[in-house]
Amino acid sequence: MPESPGFAHIIVDIASNNTDRVFTYRVPEGMRLLEGTRVLVPFGRQTIEGLVLGFSDQSDLPDDKIKSIIEPLEDYPAILPPLVDLAKEISSKSHCPLALALRLMIPPEMRSGRVRIKTQTAAKLEIPLSMLDEAISKNSRSSKRRLLLSLLSDGLTHPVNELKALVRDPLPSLKKLQDDGLVVLSEEEVLRSPYEAAPPLANEPVLTEDQKETLSEILPAIRRGDGRFLLHGITGSGKTEVYIHSARECLKLGKGVIVLIPEIVLTPQMVNWFRSRFGDVAAVLHSRLSAGERFDEWRRIRSGNARLVIGARSAVFAPVKDLGLIVIDEEHEPSYQSENTPRYDARDIALSRAARENASLLLASATPSILSFAKAQRGDYMLLEMLSRVNKHQLAQVHLVDMREELRLGNRSMFSGLLLEKLRKTLDEGHQAMLFINRRGYAPSVMCRKCGEVLSCAQCDVKLTYHQADRMMHCHYCGLETPLPRSCPNCGSGFLKPLGAGTQKIEEEFKALFPNVSTVRLDADTTTGKDSHEQLLNRFRSGEARVMIGTQMIAKGLDFPQVTLVGVVLADLTLNMPDYRAQERTFQLLTQVSGRAGRADLPGEVVIQTYKPEHYVIQHSAAQEYRGFFNQEFSRRRQLLYPPFTMMVRVLCESRQEEESREVSARVAQRINEYLSGEPRLKKRVLFVREDAAPIKRIMGLYRAQVLMKLLEHKDSDAILAFLNELTGEAWPCKVSLEINPGSLA
Ligand code: ADP
Ligand code: ZN
Ligand code: ZN
Repeated sequence: MPESPGFAHIIVDIASNNTDRVFTYRVPEGMRLLEGTRVLVPFGRQTIEGLVLGFSDQSDLPDDKIKSIIEPLEDYPAILPPLVDLAKEISSKSHCPLALALRLMIPPEMRSGRVRIKTQTAAKLEIPLSMLDEAISKNSRSSKRRLLLSLLSDGLTHPVNELKALVRDPLPSLKKLQDDGLVVLSEEEVLRSPYEAAPPLANEPVLTEDQKETLSEILPAIRRGDGRFLLHGITGSGKTEVYIHSARECLKLGKGVIVLIPEIVLTPQMVNWFRSRFGDVAAVLHSRLSAGERFDEWRRIRSGNARLVIGARSAVFAPVKDLGLIVIDEEHEPSYQSENTPRYDARDIALSRAARENASLLLASATPSILSFAKAQRGDYMLLEMLSRVNKHQLAQVHLVDMREELRLGNRSMFSGLLLEKLRKTLDEGHQAMLFINRRGYAPSVMCRKCGEVLSCAQCDVKLTYHQADRMMHCHYCGLETPLPRSCPNCGSGFLKPLGAGTQKIEEEFKALFPNVSTVRLDADTTTGKDSHEQLLNRFRSGEARVMIGTQMIAKGLDFPQVTLVGVVLADLTLNMPDYRAQERTFQLLTQVSGRAGRADLPGEVVIQTYKPEHYVIQHSAAQEYRGFFNQEFSRRRQLLYPPFTMMVRVLCESRQEEESREVSARVAQRINEYLSGEPRLKKRVLFVREDAAPIKRIMGLYRAQVLMKLLEHKDSDAILAFLNELTGEAWPCKVSLEINPGSLA
């Protein structure tokens, strides 16, 4: 720290473009401050929080214009220097105020002091042990005090709450003992821990050849402090063990580790694995922790007591010092993209942190995203492969069922003959099954139940979406609206129907067929609390429930050895999503669910029901063949000019008034078109500019309209993006935001 710096440069915690600059404050005599420390400062007539960005000896401002810092909020810098730099990068890339980007770096409750350090009173012997007997006999008249003294005879600090279990109302007696100089009472900090201690692992598994080979690439990179890896490891290939060994190497070198996992559903198992190996060195960060738990876990990381962090997306900002490794499990998951302002993609942040802090980066998945795999092929990442399962367990056998055939046979239920037969067999044998449906919460596509044709837009290769409200089919990419035809354009039948059955419906139908089999349903409606999904999972794990019914969230990462059958009730639902990634998402989901069957010594079977058994996505999923799928999908993207060959760019306009959202989006579109007319060279890089209502027209009371653009991946596009940044940053009558390749085009 500079000797009496005089002045501090401070960014105030107000998320507005007007205050998005550094203010100068005087550092009062004797106040010790470091860069990254949060402070309280006077601002106008208010007192607000700010962050110290730097210091100087003098200031150009007149003396009476400079106010003084009131006090530091913590006695340590809450935001480490590399994370301050990262916030600056986010702020400049996504054109948001620095104050907003800085907020990503601390738990939300820390701002405006909404969470406090928790303390408890604890007691400890004040005298040496040799004097204990004498002290006990001096207190012969109080059995309570004698008991307390002997309880404290181990010389350790005991929370008063703990003593309460053995001595009724111990505090007055302890105070008396303190007054006599025999015991000392103190306020101890308590850390709220989100998880119970995990029992240590009895013995470590012997690594497989695949695991050894993979680690022989990763470990040297960790020692060097570089390495960008994409690990393609099929389900059950033992990727977790690779993370654990990599993490251990890092900790051995005195460096820290961040492990990102996509969803909270995955945490209990993953957290247990890590905590059983690393104990309290591992901390957990995610949004379902209580404010106190999150704050305490964050401080354990910040203080260096926890050097390994497991967490969801936002844990990529964890204050890990001397970062050595970031692991991103299931790297293809859309949940790594944050749709809140400032928008960010945890994978990009991880890359930036790894470069800034000389750390290694390991992305891993059984179904890498098309973008990441393409990068690996280009040499941006080193590709590592683990293509066989641990212990030679076979991948599950996959059966495709053609649902058109079922209809022809007169079966109108959601369960095909084959799925029913396999369910009966599985249950008879005493095993467990999972039934799975990719229900998306919004308007369904329209499908011919006779031939499986799904109506799609003639111009966009995107499925049309049926809107109940106007009974029209909409293309969410080009705005085309058409009435529902009376008959199928492909086969002429009259069986055109909007598709869409949910988990609840399946549960009902299942119960009618198997009234004595207990089920557990796992979807967004049943898993709202922090523990509720864990309770549901436990009912299944214990065998109390025999069949689990759920949405795609149940597909991820779960490891239940008794599951021998997985049924995908309708594979087509995700395939029909109005998004150019529908193919990729479907392949990922089908591969993930198939991976849930036959994880242990029991062989697994998968039944995929579909109206499109010949579709390349379904075919490659059934064959569990990632590369084949990648090649076909990649060339489709090239042909149709989708990412990574282009960028999808969207300006989203949200307002409580529908007309306002549309008016604003129309004006935005007009401004863009005007700009491009003046820049003929740039205009060539723009494939289209389309204004329309967003696929989900209203969310939480806000109407959403959009301008969707497709730009070629070309350096000219930077200029267009810069213009769009400026444009969307202007003062509009409603919320206007710019999204580049957003995780969802809903
Ligand atoms: P993935 O994440 O690649 O799908 P996991 O890491 O969940 O696979 O591993 C699958 C199963 O294999 C887990 O039950 C895990 O404990 C076990 N496992 C992993 N590595 C080994 C090993 N070397 N020897 C024995 N069992 C292992
Ligand atoms: Zn269209
Ligand atoms: Zn048809």
